[in-house]
Amino acid sequence: MGDYFERIVDLDVTAADAQASAERMIDWMVSRGWLLRETSREAMYSLHVDEGYVAGPAWAEIARNGDVDRMPAPVAVTVGRNAHYGGQGEIAPADAKCPSCGATTVIIDYPQAWEADPAVWQPFSAAIDAWRDSGAGAVACTSCDTTSPITDWRWPWGFALGALAFDFWGWPPLTDEFVAEFTARLGHRVDHHTGKF
Ligand SMILES: [Zn+2]
Repeated sequence: MGDYFERIVDLDVTAADAQASAERMIDWMVSRGWLLRETSREAMYSLHVDEGYVAGPAWAEIARNGDVDRMPAPVAVTVGRNAHYGGQGEIAPADAKCPSCGATTVIIDYPQAWEADPAVWQPFSAAIDAWRDSGAGAVACTSCDTTSPITDWRWPWGFALGALAFDFWGWPPLTDEFVAEFTARLGHRVDHHTGKF
């Protein structure tokens, strides 16, 4: 049995606002009894933080089929611009879709290839690094020549760029109502995916 997470990434929050937004969301979840202020390092494997908020007494309210006898692991809150990957390690996204013309650039040509084509991935990778370091990075589309911010490109499920992410480790699936309210409170576009460590 592996360790699973369900992740919600805020795609639009700025790095400057991410900490305040994180605190506001944690305050809300603590006030509802879904989380505790207490943190733990147990059974969580987020790449950029090593402890998370422990599930609170009412945690099962926001999970489908929550077995109250089996406490989920902590919720890790990652603040700061990062690329978030659904799987173990940092496997490049399979493709990227241009926000201007909609053309898809294939990065990993499954099933012929299992790794990113270095020449295709390089400009995306460089733009992600530039964005992480400075807040701005862009890539030109090979189909329409339009250069778009890396954060506007569309990614396949399981890959997201954002300055604030919440990883629910070992939780049963979160309810649609919770995810909807969570998203409304963030006030931005989100990416919502699951992954396995
Ligand atoms: Zn294009």
